[in-house]
Amino acid sequence: MSTTPTAPAGAATHQWRGVIEEYRDHLDLPAGTVAVTLGEGGTPLVRSEWLSETGQAEVWLKVEGQNPTGSFKDRGMTTAISVAVHEGAAACVCASTGNTSASMAAYAAKAGLTPIVLVPSGKIAAGKMAQALVHGAQVIQVRGNFDDCLRMSRGLADHYPVALVNSVNPVRLEGQKTASFEIVDRLGDAPDVHLLPVGNAGNISAYWLGYKQYAERGRATRKPVMRAFQAEGAAPLVTGRVFPDPETKATAIRIGNPASWRLADAAAAESGGGFAALPDERILAAQAELARRDGVFVEPASAAGVAGFLQDLEQGISYAGRQVVVTVTGHGLKDTATALEWFGEVPQVVVDADIEAAAKAAGLV
Ligand SMILES: *Cc1c(COP(=O)(O)O)cnc(C)c1O
Repeated sequence: MSTTPTAPAGAATHQWRGVIEEYRDHLDLPAGTVAVTLGEGGTPLVRSEWLSETGQAEVWLKVEGQNPTGSFKDRGMTTAISVAVHEGAAACVCASTGNTSASMAAYAAKAGLTPIVLVPSGKIAAGKMAQALVHGAQVIQVRGNFDDCLRMSRGLADHYPVALVNSVNPVRLEGQKTASFEIVDRLGDAPDVHLLPVGNAGNISAYWLGYKQYAERGRATRKPVMRAFQAEGAAPLVTGRVFPDPETKATAIRIGNPASWRLADAAAAESGGGFAALPDERILAAQAELARRDGVFVEPASAAGVAGFLQDLEQGISYAGRQVVVTVTGHGLKDTATALEWFGEVPQVVVDADIEAAAKAAGLV
């Protein structure tokens, strides 16, 4: 009698292979690039009943916190690190508000590269800092902001043998555009509107690239309106001027001079969309509501698209009858400190080991 284990009935016939293998024909990568992958992409598109009802629309959340290191950055990092290895790099560098460094450190570990990270001193959420350190990055805290870190990373890559993997590296956008492909493949066509947070503006540029490419190749019959949101304290794309001292609790979008400024402007203009700014309170309120109503826990910056949708509705912009995708960019566990600030004092209910006491504390009696 054979004891060979067999797959249980109903087992998945397809194991997701990561964005390079899933979409290689659609990516502009050097021939023969071997994928360094942690199985990124293939993230869920979750329907939000709450937002759909509120906006009389069909609203989907693209939940990017489900990527291997907890943010969409992994899509661009698999391509950037794969190409860096292909080109013979031994070390890589990035400037980061946290998630790029977490992602780079993991993919560099996988590839055997030395990761060097430049972050604004004291401004990185604890979870992200832990990720970079745990994966073995040399983390250098800079007395300055993200924009200073990016300038220094470029300088290091210019003068020393290290590969720059920030989204100014076009290979990053090649990977990140796969999120658009997944959305179209899942919905059957592009949505009417796509909402997302914007910081350094690589992501909106990549999404637009992806939507345009799928339309050109006949995979989609249309392209969405791209509408993007910044925090009021870091809103250069809204005001048209650099913020020398950007400030927001949404640290992942705390950027005053976005590297992909022109590409983002083009995406907004070509798609008939635009930018709007949000007070931090709205962003944090949307983060809390998403967690409580949809069961989706995101970090503060990630809630900007949802906050923007709600603000738009309040300001009389209608989404009625439209199909809307909102990207929620990163996982809530990255920054539990900010999330727990919702409560002021963290609630602690302590009882004796007694069922009646628990029932009473739970309000069941
Ligand atoms: C990087 C990041 C953003 C901003 O994306 P850009 O490409 O810089 O515009 C938003 N949210 C999270 C969670 C991020 O990590």
